[in-house]
Amino acid sequence: MPAAAALSPDVLAKYEPVIGLEVHVQLLTASKAFCGCANHFGSEPNTNICPVCLGLPGALPVLNAKAVEFAVLASLALNCEVRERSIFARKNYFYPDLPKGYQISQFDKPIAEHGWIEVPTADGGTKRIGITRLHMEEDAGKSLHDGFTDSATQTYLDLNRCGTPLAEIVSEPDIRTPDEAFEYLTRLKEILLYTGVSDCNMEEGSLRCDANVSVRLKGAPKFGTKAEVKNVNSFRFVRAALEYEIERQIEVIESGGRVAQETRLWNANEGRTYSMRSKEQAHDYRYFPEPDLPPLIVTPEFVAEMKAKLPELPEARRARMIAEYELSPQDAHTLTASREFADRFEAAAKTARSPRRVANVLLSEVGGRLKAQGLEQEQSPVSMAGIVLAADLLDEGTISSKQLKQLFDACFEKSEDFPAVYEREKPQQITDAAAIEKLIDEAIAANPKQVEQYRGGKKTMAGFFVGQVMRASKGQANPALLNELVTKKLEG
Ligand SMILES: [Zn+2]
Repeated sequence: MPAAAALSPDVLAKYEPVIGLEVHVQLLTASKAFCGCANHFGSEPNTNICPVCLGLPGALPVLNAKAVEFAVLASLALNCEVRERSIFARKNYFYPDLPKGYQISQFDKPIAEHGWIEVPTADGGTKRIGITRLHMEEDAGKSLHDGFTDSATQTYLDLNRCGTPLAEIVSEPDIRTPDEAFEYLTRLKEILLYTGVSDCNMEEGSLRCDANVSVRLKGAPKFGTKAEVKNVNSFRFVRAALEYEIERQIEVIESGGRVAQETRLWNANEGRTYSMRSKEQAHDYRYFPEPDLPPLIVTPEFVAEMKAKLPELPEARRARMIAEYELSPQDAHTLTASREFADRFEAAAKTARSPRRVANVLLSEVGGRLKAQGLEQEQSPVSMAGIVLAADLLDEGTISSKQLKQLFDACFEKSEDFPAVYEREKPQQITDAAAIEKLIDEAIAANPKQVEQYRGGKKTMAGFFVGQVMRASKGQANPALLNELVTKKLEG
């Protein structure tokens, strides 16, 4: 079978992709969904299990209240309507890592429906992607096919994951490009992280994504036949898998074939998808209401309580921070990358003379050096308190921006925090007015044309002379005094 060949842009432009995403997130509860076993990744295999999560005869599930709280929080953060009365159902299928022979899920009455996420579009606008539903369910265990001496002939089972609480979030087929899918997932993950309901760790499987994709001729009334791409383990791979799959399907149609309804797997090494199983016959899971669990009642009072608990969400926070600290959208993104980081920044900024300057120093001086050294924010030698001190010293004119840069260079060279470096190196400042005036006189004498421009009305030329003197003084002239004296001399 050929890899998706290069189709001409004209051919590609005839078609419109239709994409819907199903995301499973593990909820960050201490115990499992229906029993008291620890909900913990990385324990010794088969140590966090009990009769309930193994489905032993006579064991009865009891719903974890914290899981409901998290599901409602996530639903509200995703603009969903929370259903007052939702029903747990048994989804019946056989798999070795599902000892009960069924998964407790929700079917026709999920806990929440009709939500949306707003994503940025290529033209700088935004687009609303609908969320069909959010339902609660439990995870299955894990089959281990590799890593044992007899893995060629045996499969091992680790049932620790059985009964881990999940929220499944199903989007409407509103997504039209792989980039939109990437943005949707990025926003979704960010919102879930801000609400604290999941750690969204894709390597550990706390967040998993399946993508449904089909193509149709532009303007066609009906959707094409969709393929489902399963368990792609990074958002970048989701985008790449969709790009591949869209071209593959167009190629099938263009060559006179028809797209098969099937489940496909992404192979990241080869950059292509493979058919895993046909979905010609729709699965019949024989859903029926779980007889061991009563209907789940979520009262309007509980919803109101959860609403009050919702933190400021990333998009709203960015908008506020852009206004409050006069940030660019890009800088606001950097500062709100995680709720924890944004909290730390804002707590520190509040204690500073100029919160705006704290943002500046953090982004340009510290951020630039971290980037140059390939370090993460957590690895920064300079603490938030150090950044506040630096911003204050700069703001009150005790150090010049050139001295600030030298001090930060020293911090990063010696891996020391700013207050320690500043105490030791206490940069020299020229605060002697006569000495500064002498340097200004020299700059004025050396640049008659610029003096003329200033006196002709171009007041911004003052900055040029400040820069000249700063350079001549090796960054040591007191900035406040220098500014004042430059103006005085030029006016004089
Ligand atoms: Zn258990």
